[in-house]
Amino acid sequence: MKNGIILVINAGSSSIKFSLFACDNLTLIYHGEIEEVFGSPILSIYDEKHDEIVKNKDIPSGYESAMQTFFNWFEDLSHQYILKAVGHRVVHGGLNYLKPTKVTNEIISNLTKLIPLAPLHQPHNLEAIKIVNKLYPKLPQVACFDTAFHSTQLKLVTLFALPKRLTAEGIIRYGFHGLSYEYIASVLPEYLGKIASGKVIVAHLGNGASMCALYQQKSIATSMGFTALEGLMMGTRCGNIDPGVILYLLQEKKYSIEEVTHLLYEQSGLLGASEISGDVRELEQSKSPHAMEAIQLFCYRAARELSALITALKGCDAIVFTAGIGENSVRIRKGICEWLDWLGVEINDKANENNLSIISHENSKVLVSVIPTNEEYMIAKHTFSLI
Ligand code: ADP
Repeated sequence: MKNGIILVINAGSSSIKFSLFACDNLTLIYHGEIEEVFGSPILSIYDEKHDEIVKNKDIPSGYESAMQTFFNWFEDLSHQYILKAVGHRVVHGGLNYLKPTKVTNEIISNLTKLIPLAPLHQPHNLEAIKIVNKLYPKLPQVACFDTAFHSTQLKLVTLFALPKRLTAEGIIRYGFHGLSYEYIASVLPEYLGKIASGKVIVAHLGNGASMCALYQQKSIATSMGFTALEGLMMGTRCGNIDPGVILYLLQEKKYSIEEVTHLLYEQSGLLGASEISGDVRELEQSKSPHAMEAIQLFCYRAARELSALITALKGCDAIVFTAGIGENSVRIRKGICEWLDWLGVEINDKANENNLSIISHENSKVLVSVIPTNEEYMIAKHTFSLI
């Protein structure tokens, strides 16, 4: 008998990540990535032990050919596995999609209207859905939204101080990285015991970075808002900025809308502040004072956002670091925590250097933890429960 399998697709602007999970116990069987989709695509596939089993550089440029190459590889396994459904990460669900949803043509059309709210991600998420629809029209697909987990936020924290008529149009703070926060919330009791249901701030620090204030494992407030630009300084995104800077760039420096968009999404953050790289590993290896300053700014801005979320939670029992930087950068975790000594946060340097799951000192008034995220698993779980 063939084993049922769920494919999870996370389609981005330059890469498509995919993971294959067994339906019976949701264990990861294969995972991989197609990088440089619009350049010279490279398909890499890894088995469950993370050993590379495929490397294919002979792929025509473009989304459809890249995905077709992946499915050709998968067809070779069809004697063993049967694809039951595809789950997609979709960055924006807007006001109406507050939980994972089976994809229909009507849903694709509604989600297309949200492209202006997430121009870097939403078009690619939808492109992947449409390609699967074309290749396997009968295969169920499920959209899992990055915004959905934040639907429990207090209404007040979702408001901008803008005229009510704009709020009514949906110009509110939605929040993102919801699948990561949902996963972390679900495993919190394993790591934090009883504190899991208390006041916990999760710092998802990857290329995109945000924070979420959890109470009783639900989102109370988050640092990202209407788009994935608000809040923390990120790899190449600016995070919070005086809106007057944008007006100045448009009016005085005569930037075009496209130039401002490119500046805020792709040329700012760690990359802009260092003018070296938006990648923390590269900055940590650099001897340049600009690299050091960019990292320091990142830590300060992150601590500032975290302090704001403490107000929303009216306290803080634990801080959790996750995603590429949060799970790996000893220096950034320490740098952020040093700004929080007023709160009684005290790091255990040895535990931090060894990436242990609890990195706070026993005297610390706030527990500090490192928990690996797993957005793909969350998507597989939702997809399985909907089919
Ligand atoms: P994405 O948002 O694209 O999923 P990731 O969660 O993979 O991003 O995070 C990427 C970031 O994590 C990069 O800045 C990278 O340098 C950083 N990172 C990954 N591994 C390490 C490490 N060992 N030490 C420091 N930073 C790391």
